[in-house]
Amino acid sequence: MATLLWLQGGACSGNTMSFLNAEEPSAIDLVTDFGIDVLWHPSLGMELGEQAQKILWDCANGNRPLDIFVMEGTVMLGPKGTGRYDMFAERPMKDWVTDLAKQAQIVVALGDCACWGGIPATEPNPTDSVGLQYLKRQRGGFLGPDFRSKMGLPVINIPGCPIHPDWVTQILVAIASGRAGDIALDELQRPQTFFKSFTQTGCTRVQFFEYKQSTTEFGQGTRTGCLFYEFGCRGPVTRSPCNRILWNRQSSKTRAGMPCTGCTEPEFPFFDLKPGTVFKTQKISGSIPKEVPTGTDHVTYMAHAAAARVAAPQWSKEDMFVV
Ligand code: SF4
Ligand code: SF4
Repeated sequence: MATLLWLQGGACSGNTMSFLNAEEPSAIDLVTDFGIDVLWHPSLGMELGEQAQKILWDCANGNRPLDIFVMEGTVMLGPKGTGRYDMFAERPMKDWVTDLAKQAQIVVALGDCACWGGIPATEPNPTDSVGLQYLKRQRGGFLGPDFRSKMGLPVINIPGCPIHPDWVTQILVAIASGRAGDIALDELQRPQTFFKSFTQTGCTRVQFFEYKQSTTEFGQGTRTGCLFYEFGCRGPVTRSPCNRILWNRQSSKTRAGMPCTGCTEPEFPFFDLKPGTVFKTQKISGSIPKEVPTGTDHVTYMAHAAAARVAAPQWSKEDMFVV
């Protein structure tokens, strides 16, 4: 039996909504089959008012053991460091986070906002929002770079906007079954099992990427061409399993003709959503992508791209999925 307490800070509840769509295991399976005791959740908790506060205080004071503390959403520090933009149960939410993180065996940041600040921390960041242990790519965040939970682990970051339900359920099952120490994390404290491969891994358009054939019109020809060259797809520079662990078990953004916007990376939303930066590949001199696939450089990429275009067979210029 592992106890779990879930709070929401600066967030839209999207990660909770996604979590509730989990199928294998489902949110209910986590309780009935994997013994997770949900002490309280803002959308699911039955307790209100003083009853809910008692649960929070018992955990915060260490009177009730807390195994997993899940935080969804940013920690708001404003105005002027008081945290009063986000009051919860008669205290600034940031004070609850401080106390609960100290008592928890494991702390999980769920979704971009809790991991790195996400959309609330986009410039000019009016609420002074930060993630639990990062602000964008800078380590530190609210709890500081040296934070370790009682189990000796840093915050486990499960980013996404929102997270795929399997990313969180599988990590919660690992924790509840005593295998938290086996979760290998990358340099951004993300579980490598999900965030070592790229969004591009498994994308059905990868053969078009290989021969540098672009989708020509947004919303048209959803099954032909690659979205990297004109439509800003971040698949080759984003760590996520979206084309390995499919959404709704059947598709992904890029399979459906929607560019990956890189939502599992700390810089999301990229370019602070400035006009002309969304769904549009940023280029140097009008033709060279500003960002090339991770692991390569511009000179190598351009040489490879030129050769690939020359080598492109006719089929790579056509829709391969005719029915
Ligand atoms: S559509 Fe995106 S993810 Fe798919 S192959 Fe092209 S760049 Fe990669
Ligand atoms: S495809 Fe990209 S933007 Fe969409 S959920 Fe996956 S990582 Fe996020």
